[in-house]
Amino acid sequence: MRNFVEFVCDKYDVEHTVSNGVDYLLNKIEEATSSITASTCIGNEYIKPPRKCVIKLIERNIERGHSGHEENNIIATEIINAGYRNKDIHFIFESIYNEAGADWGWYTSNPNTAGRQIEQIRSKALNRYSKDKLIQIGVCTEKCGCP
Ligand SMILES: [Zn+2]
Repeated sequence: MRNFVEFVCDKYDVEHTVSNGVDYLLNKIEEATSSITASTCIGNEYIKPPRKCVIKLIERNIERGHSGHEENNIIATEIINAGYRNKDIHFIFESIYNEAGADWGWYTSNPNTAGRQIEQIRSKALNRYSKDKLIQIGVCTEKCGCP
């Protein structure tokens, strides 16, 4: 259950030990990534680090081994806009479904090749979900400190 948050920590060089709680780590990730938005670009797009409520959604879905279609769209647009490569996207969706490259369209059996849904999101350059939309769906709350 902690593996995904640790994966994100490693991505942003956030130190973590087994005694750190998830919320503590999510706040550290937020601190560590708050400066990234303004300085890093992929192509013409600014990289937007994943918001902590979406990281929590991913972690929840990994834990229950299931994710709905809209949740997958939320996750995919979030991590694509965060600049995650196919390998990372593969890791995340395979962790959720816990099966090798099934025909769900989100990942393939090859970690270097994206699923067709991911290709589509990339080719349309879809934005991640707005905070308002996330609140509507129940992924985010007014209290969440995410942008
Ligand atoms: Zn939020």
